[in-house]
Amino acid sequence: MRIIRTIKNLKPEIADSRDNGLKIGFVPTMGALHDGHLSLVKYAREHSNFVVVSIFVNPTQFAPNEDFDSYPRNETDDKEMLEAAGTDILFLPCSDELYNDGFDSDIKAGVASNGLESIFRPTHFDGVVNIVNRLFEAVKPDIAVFGEKDYQQLQVIREMVGNLDIPIEIIGAPIMRDSHGLALSSRNAYLSAAELKIARTLNKVLQEYVQNNDIDTAKNILLSNGFNKIDYIEERWGRVLIAAWLGTTRLIDNIQLK
Ligand code: AMP
Repeated sequence: MRIIRTIKNLKPEIADSRDNGLKIGFVPTMGALHDGHLSLVKYAREHSNFVVVSIFVNPTQFAPNEDFDSYPRNETDDKEMLEAAGTDILFLPCSDELYNDGFDSDIKAGVASNGLESIFRPTHFDGVVNIVNRLFEAVKPDIAVFGEKDYQQLQVIREMVGNLDIPIEIIGAPIMRDSHGLALSSRNAYLSAAELKIARTLNKVLQEYVQNNDIDTAKNILLSNGFNKIDYIEERWGRVLIAAWLGTTRLIDNIQLK
């Protein structure tokens, strides 16, 4: 696995691989990797033959009151995991590389960003589409893999690629969970042992919701289990999506409706 930090060094490597007939797969991440991220790398390997993974904690998708500074960063472990998963290039850009280097147009997230996350994180998806567009510009992959864990994000990216006519196939990968059904997330590292136990009830409540379609019951169970606030529980795209707070940690999840 080669570690590359600049777009200048990245571009010729990828151009060489493409000239050699390789199909380029790309997995953008914010690091603090877990098996969910590694499943995306595996998907990318299945759909391409040269896999680029980026790690960049993107400041513009965090609001000033959010956890950008405390977001977990584990570069050493991340490198080992990606190497073992068969990554060809790990791209580790710095902010200047992505935000000051000849990119002049700011784009806005489309209609898929309306509601849900945007009610509570109004600037989030504009930050996401800008960084993903810049990473796409730098890597120019044939395919890119995103997790269904961030289901609204996946729809926002698909819409962006359609609107800008970007020639990249977007592949959605299923949610990886722990043995209790909790969706893996870098932010699970914030949870205490007691909170982890409570967090593991989230997916069970979603499964019950799929059976009874009763939002009030779902909210009441979560609040009585120890969640302190439900930002939303809502149906869209044939799924039920949820964001809920456990102490100072915000968890999201979603599952398919019947
Ligand atoms: P992040 O590092 O949180 O920005 O996530 C990078 C990518 O990994 C995104 O496409 C996420 O949707 C995906 N991802 C995060 N957690 C999971 C999970 N538990 N299962 C599948 N994909 C995930």
